[in-house]
Amino acid sequence: MKYNSLLLIGAPGSGKGTQGKILGTIPGFFHFSSGELFRSVSAQSPVGKTFLEYSSKGLLVPDEITIQLFCSYMEKVITEGRFRPKLDYLVLDGLPRNVSQWHILSEQVEVLYVYHLHCPDRSILEARLRGRASSDHRVDDTEEVIQKRFEVYEKETKPLLELFPAERLKEIDCTKMPYQVLRQILEPLP
Ligand code: ADP
Repeated sequence: MKYNSLLLIGAPGSGKGTQGKILGTIPGFFHFSSGELFRSVSAQSPVGKTFLEYSSKGLLVPDEITIQLFCSYMEKVITEGRFRPKLDYLVLDGLPRNVSQWHILSEQVEVLYVYHLHCPDRSILEARLRGRASSDHRVDDTEEVIQKRFEVYEKETKPLLELFPAERLKEIDCTKMPYQVLRQILEPLP
């Protein structure tokens, strides 16, 4: 059966991770963060090495590796009973990241809503990422890499928004307070 999913789509710094984490604390919601999953893989393993190679340049990890990691992780959390496909919403944060990932994923994922966390002013996002770089020690939060990640978002991820019908797509201003963004995410759910 397909996973009932909520998609969080937004530029780096738009708060997908913040919302995903909050939602993941609510019973009935399971937060999947592709970035967090990649960062949890040992840097000495083949996947970990590939991840560092791409993410340190602001680039996406190749689709096959990404989807494979997602599938094995989902199998694991289903076996452990942490994600219950019949009962829980899967909150997807960072996946799909391009159109070809969506084509593969759509066989397994039923999208209820797509939340576009958009920002009227990129400098707000840049300031957030700079703040995060100093607190979280992320190798991909340097100035040059940040600019590349914005570029990749515009070119590869944003076109995803055109694939969903208007009634599934919710536009949310990501500069609002986290609780206000959260309210808008929950609002359309039955
Ligand atoms: P961001 O703050 O840019 O949203 P993430 O924590 O989601 O960062 O991801 C960090 C890095 O992990 C990305 O720059 C990319 O290299 C890799 N990554 C995460 N998700 C994907 C994905 N779905 N496909 C390919 N690469 C990914």
